[in-house]
Amino acid sequence: MSEFTMDLSEEQKEIREWLHGFSVDVIRPAAAEWDEREETPWPVIQEAAKLGIYSLDFYAQQYFAPNGLGIPMIMEELFWGDAGIALSIVGTGLAAVGVVANGTEEQIGTWIPQMYGDASEVKVAAFCSSEPDAGSDVGSMRTRAVYDEAKDEWVLNGTKTWATNGGIANVHVVVASVDPELGTKGHASFIVPPRTPGLSQGQKFQKHGIRASHTAEVVLEDVRVPGSCLLGGKDKLDERLARAREKAKKGGERVKNAAMATFEASRPAVGAMAVGTARAAYEVALDYAKTREQFGRPIIDNQGIAFQLADMRTQIDAARLLVWRASWMAASGQAFTAAEGSQSKLFASEVSKKVTAQAIQILGGNGYTREYPVERMHRDSAIYTIFEGTSEIQRLVIARTLAGVPIR
Ligand SMILES: Cc1cc2nc3c(=O)[nH]c(=O)nc-3n(C[C@H](O)[C@H](O)[C@H](O)COP(=O)(O)OP(=O)(O)OC[C@H]3O[C@@H](n4cnc5c(N)ncnc54)[C@H](O)[C@@H]3O)c2cc1C
Repeated sequence: MSEFTMDLSEEQKEIREWLHGFSVDVIRPAAAEWDEREETPWPVIQEAAKLGIYSLDFYAQQYFAPNGLGIPMIMEELFWGDAGIALSIVGTGLAAVGVVANGTEEQIGTWIPQMYGDASEVKVAAFCSSEPDAGSDVGSMRTRAVYDEAKDEWVLNGTKTWATNGGIANVHVVVASVDPELGTKGHASFIVPPRTPGLSQGQKFQKHGIRASHTAEVVLEDVRVPGSCLLGGKDKLDERLARAREKAKKGGERVKNAAMATFEASRPAVGAMAVGTARAAYEVALDYAKTREQFGRPIIDNQGIAFQLADMRTQIDAARLLVWRASWMAASGQAFTAAEGSQSKLFASEVSKKVTAQAIQILGGNGYTREYPVERMHRDSAIYTIFEGTSEIQRLVIARTLAGVPIR
C-alpha cells in the first residue's frame, strides 16, 4: 500500500500546470458562449483532442498513479475552467469506463477508439442507464434485452433518459435487463454501434446548469445488435445469471445493489469536479472582495465578508481532502468500510452548492448577472448533488454501510 501523501508527483504537478493553462486559455473564454448556446462545444473538444486531453489513454495513465491523486487533480482543473465544457470533455469517459470494466480485450480495442474518434474528427459516447421510472432505483429498470439465438443478436427495447451525449454519441453503452426477476443482478451492458437502426434521440433537455453538456432521452425500438456487443460475452453472462439464480433459490440472500456499489469507486471523481467549481467561485469572490470598495474600504475589511471567505476556503480544502483520501484508498486497494467514496461526493457537492451561492452574495448585484461567472457556477454546481447518486442516496449508502446492512 502506498503511503498517503498530499504531494503530487513532479509529473502530476506539470500536468496540473498544463491543464490549468488549458482551462485559462481555452475553456474559460468559451464558457459563457456555450452556456448560452446550450450546445456541445465541438471546437473545444477538438482542441482538447489535439493536445491529448481527449483520449482514454490520458486518463488511464493517471488512473494508475499509485498515489491515486491523478484523476481528482485532472477533474478539479478542468471543472475549475467550466463545468459544462469540462463535462463535454470527460463525459465520454463514463461510457468508456463501462466498456473497460465489463468488456473483453477485443471489445475494448474495437470500441474505445470509436468512442473518441481523433483530433480531425472527434466523436463522443454515451452511457445510458437511467430511465424515467428508474433513477435512484436502478433495480426497477424496464429496458429489456432479449437474445435471438438463431441470429446471434440481442434485441433491445426501452427508453433511457438523462443520458449525457445521448443521441449525438457515435457509440452508446446501454444497460438493460436480461432477467427482470433478478433485479440489478439481471442487468447487462450492451454496445450500440454507430448508426444502428431503431436507436433515436428523444427529448433534448433544457437545463438549469452545465448547459454546454448535451443531455437527452434515448429511445430504443427493436434495436438489434450482434452477440459480440454484449459486454463481457455470453458465457460470462450465463455464468453470472446462473450464480444469481442459485442464490435467489437458496432463500433470497440479499445482494448488494451492484450499481450503488460500482458507483462508489467513481464518486470521488465527481467530488473533485465539485471542488473545481467551488474553488473557481471562491477565487472570483476573493478577488472581488479585495477590490470592491464600499464605505471607503474594500468589502473584505468587513468581518461579515472575510469570515464567509474563511469558511468557503476551509470547506473547499476539507472537501478536497475527503476526495483525495477516497481516491488514495481506491488506488491502494483498500475497501471503503465507511463508504468513503460516497462521503467525499456528498460533502464536496454540498460544499460546491453552498460556496457558489455565497460567491453570488459577495459580488452583490454583479453576482446576480451574467456579466460575472459566479451565477453560472452556482447553476452548474446543482448537478453535483444529483447525478451519480443524489445526496440522499449518498447518505443512504453511508448510513447502511455504517449499520452493516446491505445497500439496496
Ligand atoms: C444533467 C444530468 C446528466 C446525467 N447523466 C446521466 C448519464 O450520462 N447516464 C445515466 O444513466 N444517467 C444520467 N443522469 C441521471 C442521474 O444519475 C439521475 O438523475 C439520478 O440518479 C437521480 O435519479 P432521478 O432523477 O430519477 O431522481 P429520483 O430517483 O426520482 O429522486 C428524486 C428525489 O427523491 C430522492 N430519493 C429517491 N430515493 C430515495 C430514498 N430511498 N431515500 C431518500 N430520498 C430518496 C432523491 O434523492 C431525489 O431528491 C444524469 C442526470 C442529469 C440531471
